[in-house]
Amino acid sequence: MNLAEQDEAFRTEVAQWMRDHLRGKFECLRHRGGAGDEDAFPALRKEWEQELAAGKWTCVGWPQAYGGRGLSVAQQIIFHEEYARAGGPGHIGHLGETLLGPTLIAYGTPSQKARFLPGIVAGTEYWCQGYSEPGAGSDLANVQTRARLDQTTGEWVIDGQKVWTSLAHESQWIFVVARCEPGSQGHKGLIFLLVPLDQPGVEVRPIRQITGSCEFNEVFFDGARTSAENVVGEPGEGWKIAMALLGFERGLSWIGMQMHFEHQLQLVCKAAREAGTDKIPSIRARIADAWMGLKVMHYNTLRTLAGGQDGSLTREGYIIKYYWSNWHRDLGKLALDALGPEGDIFIDDFSRTRLQQVFLFSRSDTIVAGTNEVQLNIIAERALGMPKEMRPQKPTTETRV
Ligand SMILES: Cc1cc2nc3c(=O)[nH]c(=O)nc-3n(C[C@H](O)[C@H](O)[C@H](O)COP(=O)(O)OP(=O)(O)OC[C@H]3O[C@@H](n4cnc5c(N)ncnc54)[C@H](O)[C@@H]3O)c2cc1C
Repeated sequence: MNLAEQDEAFRTEVAQWMRDHLRGKFECLRHRGGAGDEDAFPALRKEWEQELAAGKWTCVGWPQAYGGRGLSVAQQIIFHEEYARAGGPGHIGHLGETLLGPTLIAYGTPSQKARFLPGIVAGTEYWCQGYSEPGAGSDLANVQTRARLDQTTGEWVIDGQKVWTSLAHESQWIFVVARCEPGSQGHKGLIFLLVPLDQPGVEVRPIRQITGSCEFNEVFFDGARTSAENVVGEPGEGWKIAMALLGFERGLSWIGMQMHFEHQLQLVCKAAREAGTDKIPSIRARIADAWMGLKVMHYNTLRTLAGGQDGSLTREGYIIKYYWSNWHRDLGKLALDALGPEGDIFIDDFSRTRLQQVFLFSRSDTIVAGTNEVQLNIIAERALGMPKEMRPQKPTTETRV
């Protein structure tokens, strides 16, 4: 078998596995979960992750030594495409699988790897990301949450507040960036800690969103504790680990996200046909634009992935976040217009409320994982080599990528 035939055989294997397993009690999970729909069947989606794990379909890009499949980039793309095509639900474990796991593989101690990676692979331990604070979003180096070493117990004690912590209410662990050197500023004096959420010093408060769901939370630390073994990297060098983790934020999962977008675009076309809005020339033109935009996004992502086998971004990669977030925000508006007047009314028909949800949640697309303004700075400075923007006096302006 040549490479193309092998890949086709692999595609058939994934599609068949999905047909055999995404059924019965899991049938209701088709096209559910993920950004904007995290409230959908969380317990059943965790069971589904364990079903995936039993089939060895979690962490497919991780090295086999850590429980992954060690798939090639081409095969990971095929996996994500077929998973999304079959309607595979959004992963509650994605922060562990795509962010923390790769960071631990690169920077964790042998005992951290042994302790934490198996739970991520098995879909039994879930993680959330404790980066943002009320005064530290784009300006992440302004983190004020404090961590101090208790000399008696040898534990780190954490005080402070995080915000917008997606899925904290479904997670057992949070990775936290905190300031461990009093008086330090900017990216100096930070620590990267793994902290158990289920303890008296942690309070998780849901933030109810305009969609009606509570996808993210405020997380308060009041004397929360974690073992000294749970520091990744060296105390004081947390910035390096925090930035390395953000580097994993981009990658192959984009392909799955785009297949998911394709499904949403199909729902928009269906809604337009049903509401008769497909007769309106401007709606037809916007649907055509959306389709072309999706293709452009897809080919640019493939081009980027083909160039960056070592995990580094090619120059083309810098536009992906900016491009998809604007495309999806516009799809949200199109979805509502395609629904016609019924778009303004909530009725108990999920295919309609789903599109309303897409509209409401996609308002946040140009903020999450780096706002549009910050992305444009990154494109200008890093991809186009333009002069750096003017920074304020204090050295706290490394921005979110
Ligand atoms: C759906 C969603 C899920 C999220 N999940 C998580 C999570 O799980 N964990 C987590 O830690 N965080 C999470 N976040 C937070 C997210 O990372 C921040 O919202 C984002 O980094 C922006 O920070 P901010 O909201 O503090 O806005 P700010 O940084 O305060 O920005 C306010 C405005 O100022 C502009 N601005 C800021 N700096 C510059 C600059 N240098 N140049 C030009 N303009 C600038 C911004 O573009 C924006 O328009 C989530 C956010 C969303 C929307």
